[in-house]
Amino acid sequence: NKFEQLGLNEQLLDAIREMGFESPSEVQEKAIPVLLEQHTDMVALAQTGTGKTAAFGFPLIQKIDTFNNTTQGLILSPTRELCLQIAQELKNYSKFVNNLRVVAIYGGASISEQAREVRRGAHIIVATPGRMQDMINRNMVDISNIDVCVLDEADEMLNMGFYEDISSILSHTPREKATWLFSATMPKEVAAIAKKFMSSPLEVTV
Ligand code: AMP
Repeated sequence: NKFEQLGLNEQLLDAIREMGFESPSEVQEKAIPVLLEQHTDMVALAQTGTGKTAAFGFPLIQKIDTFNNTTQGLILSPTRELCLQIAQELKNYSKFVNNLRVVAIYGGASISEQAREVRRGAHIIVATPGRMQDMINRNMVDISNIDVCVLDEADEMLNMGFYEDISSILSHTPREKATWLFSATMPKEVAAIAKKFMSSPLEVTV
């Protein structure tokens, strides 16, 4: 099982065995070892169905310090459905990690309920950009200690008009964080985001 050669810890390997993943996909094989070893920005060209959620999810989960109750990982995703799907995947992956909290926040549902979930502890937040910006404005979330920010389906988020929200959200995160951008396509708008918000990103194409 090649998963054992990527540098993943036993809790994640146990979950991988239980989920029945036999071997890493190409994007997982390319991204996971380097994301675990280096604190680096990354731009990955990968479509849905390539296993990209685990490519960022495994290293992100492994980097979380569960003894520290601050929000350390932020994933921005274009839709409510994707947020819920990613949050569920991360919960499956972290089944054997004690006390790890993953919270999804998205529009069209009670903001006070989501704020309550965040207050109970949210090591990782999976959010749509609009609701995230709204919760920042209302001081319902603190993303000043973010270590890793994932921009998932960046091309879709920009198509949906989230540039201003993404830009403003990133301005509330620490400069030293790592940013991992995933996109199925690389139009000039996505390249511009990468240029503006990332430094010397590692490039992964599958
Ligand atoms: P994604 O591209 O992240 O949307 O993943 C597509 C589907 O493939 C999800 O249902 C994952 O649970 C599954 N998956 C991800 N990585 C693997 C793997 N290495 N082996 C088998 N299934 C996987």
